[in-house]
Amino acid sequence: MNRQPGFCLACFAKLDTAAQVCPVCGASQEGLSARDYRDKLLHALHHPLAEVRMRAIIALGWRAEPDTAQELVACAFRHPTDVVAGLEIVARLRDWPQGTSRTEALRALNRHPARLVRKAAERSS
Ligand SMILES: [Zn+2]
Repeated sequence: MNRQPGFCLACFAKLDTAAQVCPVCGASQEGLSARDYRDKLLHALHHPLAEVRMRAIIALGWRAEPDTAQELVACAFRHPTDVVAGLEIVARLRDWPQGTSRTEALRALNRHPARLVRKAAERSS
C-alpha cells in the first residue's frame, strides 16, 4: 500500500501503520489510497505537517493545472503564519502559463496576511 505512514489519509490523525480503518474518523485507508494522485495532492494541502503540505505544493506547482490554483490559495490562507509555504505558492504560480486562474490566484494572494507573501504576489501579477 502506497500511503503516508503514520497518518490517516482522511483526517490525518496519527495512525498505526498497520491500521486499515482509522479509529478516529472510521475511514478505510485502502479505499483512500486508491484515489488518484491529483486528489491525494489536493488533500495533502490540508495536512497538519508543514513539510507534507510543502511537498504537495511543489508537486501541484509542477503540474500547473489551472483548476488547482484556488486550492493553493486556500492553503496559503489556512496557514497565514507559514510564510515559506506562502512564498512557495506564489513562486510556483508565477511559473504557470498566463491565464485567468493564475491571475486570479496571484491577485487573491495580494491580500495574504503575511507582508512578504503579499509583496511577492504583487511583484508576480
Ligand atoms: Zn481518520
